[in-house]
Amino acid sequence: MARILVTNDDGVFSRGIQALARALDAVGPVTVLAPERNWSAAGHPKTMHKPLRIKEVTWPDGRVVHACSGAPSDCVALGLLGAVDHGPFELVVSGINQGYNLGTDVIYSGTVAGAMEAIINGVAAIAISVAWLDDDEVFEELLAHAAQIGARLAGRVLDDGLPQQALLNVNVPASSATDFQGIEVTRLGRRIYRDVVVAREDPWGRPYYWIGGQVPTGIPEDGSDVGAVERGRVSVTPVGVDLTCYPCLDVLRSWEL
Ligand code: MN
Repeated sequence: MARILVTNDDGVFSRGIQALARALDAVGPVTVLAPERNWSAAGHPKTMHKPLRIKEVTWPDGRVVHACSGAPSDCVALGLLGAVDHGPFELVVSGINQGYNLGTDVIYSGTVAGAMEAIINGVAAIAISVAWLDDDEVFEELLAHAAQIGARLAGRVLDDGLPQQALLNVNVPASSATDFQGIEVTRLGRRIYRDVVVAREDPWGRPYYWIGGQVPTGIPEDGSDVGAVERGRVSVTPVGVDLTCYPCLDVLRSWEL
């Protein structure tokens, strides 16, 4: 059976990664290698100037997993390079993140970065995120539901493969656990960030800054991930690593630089 590497960006003890690993047990042998702390919105670091440490930790259910001092992208790099014994891995699954990763969120997301690191190295990958919920019990149900969707997609990816250098970015809305409206294949949509800068003064009179503000919204266009979750549907977006602006190529070539 295909070996699966599981990581996340909320930290190795978050509930999302525990639900995900449990569901993926049915698909293949699972190895968990995840950050020891929260790296949400930390993007895609490659830690090169300090050592990375891996230690074994035990989840409440008794499973022994690997906690790493690096980012999700470091965890996947280490896993694929053989730092833990259980490889080689045919699939990397990252999540389940608490909070959506829609549109340009994928640029900031440590969850997506974990999956991105896999496809850069030619290994198939899935990133899974769910709506942010405060209610503990409902959140647990949502995680279990999203984990089942993740396991189903993982099985399909292992059977059929994916186009080269594409990952699946999956977002599961809150209502989907109790009122499943199906899965929609989408493109990345448009996020609206409502950031504000808060300037304060430290005890020595020097200014410091927080980037804060309200939770981002988005434009719920048809066919986009933002639109799908807004309508209560699970969104699956194929995301590639090629950031070239193709419509710009002809324009720039016409400049005859
Ligand atoms: Mn996160």
